[in-house]
Amino acid sequence: MIKKYYLLSPGPTPVPEETLAAAAVPIIHHRTSEFSDILMETVEGLKYVFQTEHDVFILTSSGTGAMELAVTNTLCPGDKVITLNAGKFGERWGHICRAYGVDVREIVLEWGEPFTKEQLADELRANPETKAFFSILSETSTGTVYDIQGYGEVLAQSDAILVVDGISGIGATPCPMDEWKVDIIVAGSQKSFMIPPGLAYIAFSPKAWNLVEKSTMPKFYFDAKKYKKSLGKRTTPYTPAVSLIIQQKKSLDIIKAMGLEKLFEHHRILGDTTRAAVHAIGLELLSKIPGNIVTAVKVPAGVDGLKIVKTMQGKYMAYIAGAQDPHKGEFFRIAHLGYMGGFDVITALAALEMTLAELGFDFETGKGIKAAEEILKENWE
Ligand SMILES: *Cc1c(COP(=O)(O)O)cnc(C)c1O
Repeated sequence: MIKKYYLLSPGPTPVPEETLAAAAVPIIHHRTSEFSDILMETVEGLKYVFQTEHDVFILTSSGTGAMELAVTNTLCPGDKVITLNAGKFGERWGHICRAYGVDVREIVLEWGEPFTKEQLADELRANPETKAFFSILSETSTGTVYDIQGYGEVLAQSDAILVVDGISGIGATPCPMDEWKVDIIVAGSQKSFMIPPGLAYIAFSPKAWNLVEKSTMPKFYFDAKKYKKSLGKRTTPYTPAVSLIIQQKKSLDIIKAMGLEKLFEHHRILGDTTRAAVHAIGLELLSKIPGNIVTAVKVPAGVDGLKIVKTMQGKYMAYIAGAQDPHKGEFFRIAHLGYMGGFDVITALAALEMTLAELGFDFETGKGIKAAEEILKENWE
């Protein structure tokens, strides 16, 4: 058989054909009005997806670069912050902060557990010197979506800023930056933005920018003031990733044509489809509050979790994701974000059923697919 490659991971994600083709053009110089027009249109598109009136800066880096910029541009060494460690990526906020000498109070949750705005309010009361709360919108390592709206309400009543890692969530699940009073959002190009890896995005509220003005943390390449000054002149401080920005403009055209509400609804349908199939097969979700970006599924007793991922990837070329350390082998993750359609989910589920059958799990083959088809049929328009 032709071994076709199916990218079903929560980043990188598939790229639309017309976006792939958009990069197959001669490189234009970045200090030209032609490129400035493309850059500014891309920024406008990003503002639409972030649902903000504020500037969105484009960095040539993966998402983590924007996370680092958020830390080094708002804080001073010794500042006190709270981070939400509810998985691999929330944990990263703590790592970055500590690398820069920030005093971190880390809230460590079991993977997949919720964290309420009331709990956050208690934390802030107990730690009144907190300058920032670092959260995640969609914790990609567990498939959990957090209550950013609630955190925004709580933090708006304090001097602390709300910093959100929206790298996999923005563009797939609601998080209107201005309405929800988010002070900083970071995002990455290879998740729901439908282009290859290589760009990161970041936006600041006026409250956050106030801290930028006062920050004494060392920085050079990732200096938000330089990005702001350059954007005012319709350009970037350093050579931008010209081809990726051209691709992003193309994918943003696709996103705008569909509309954000429809895009969120699309992800909701794919999430419901995946969850229905998983339950029909007799499996359990990891997350207590599962989002519509990626579904984390517990490995059933008696089955080798590493083998599930190895078989799906190696034999069927269905590139779902395993669980990350320290939970390797305990669950696996089926992504449904970005440029994925209903039949991409069916592909993942069919490969999963064939794999589970092969590994001796006792279930009725086809039951998951049937449940998935029902949800897709009900919602297809
Ligand atoms: C993918 C991801 C990251 C890491 O982004 P990189 O682009 O690999 O640096 C961080 N946070 C979340 C929530 C992610 O999904």
